[in-house]
Amino acid sequence: MAEVSVAADDEAALPPGAPSTDLLSLHESIAGVLATQGDWRRAYHHLKSAFDLARAGSLRDTLTSSYNRRYLDQWLHGPSVERRGPAGMAIALVDLDLFKEVNDTFGHLVGDRVLREVADLLQQGLPSEGFCARYGGEEFALVLPDVDHAHAVRIADTARIRVAHHPWARIRPGLSVTISVGLAHENRAEVVEPERQLRHADSLLYMAKRAGRNKVAYHDKDSSRTIPRSMNSADSPGA
Ligand code: GH3
Ligand code: MG
Ligand code: MG
Repeated sequence: MAEVSVAADDEAALPPGAPSTDLLSLHESIAGVLATQGDWRRAYHHLKSAFDLARAGSLRDTLTSSYNRRYLDQWLHGPSVERRGPAGMAIALVDLDLFKEVNDTFGHLVGDRVLREVADLLQQGLPSEGFCARYGGEEFALVLPDVDHAHAVRIADTARIRVAHHPWARIRPGLSVTISVGLAHENRAEVVEPERQLRHADSLLYMAKRAGRNKVAYHDKDSSRTIPRSMNSADSPGA
């Protein structure tokens, strides 16, 4: 059987812009060919590349391409004390408002597109160390390390306004989308269990829903607050 030759610079032989799953299969196939030729060193190199791609893919949500719950859990249970930074760390839980109605009215494909666009909008304006992860269904988590409380509130409310003002009707006439956010900030001095901070964010999210949706709820000093205070506020959609 004729030997299959593989370019010395193996990466250069790969098709540009190939989706990572295709790239993964390609690395795997090349590794197989190299292994039959006894070129174990280069076969290992390709298997390692395939493994790295598979690992990176396992931390991403397939619908939105944002990080997934596994990445979030790994990050939160990693050396997060160091990652919090001196200003502390905020976690914002984001839930799409009345999203079931979007699916029921416009169909699941439109719902899927909305989820993808919301994920893109949430990524914008995050500090360099921050990230967005799909937490489940129509919920996302924003993790904001080394951000003080006031800054975290500004980031969350800017995200809320960005989603509310996005031109959703371009996807389907009559479509509008808003989010509710529960924001829990912890100072570095009071490092808490990630689960406790998530539970806190979740109860604040519930408060944002009860306050009428399209709100950010957070705890300030000794009380919980929601912004904006009224749906008639100047930054509600369509205002
Ligand atoms: P609330 O404002 O109280 O959150 O109301 P809601 O309608 O958003 O909440 P509910 O929990 O009743 O509905 C969530 C919906 O999200 C139902 C589910 O079908 C939809 N959903 C979850 N994941 C996906 C997805 O991946 N794609 C689509 N299209 N819909 C999804
Ligand atoms: Mg939900
Ligand atoms: Mg919802």
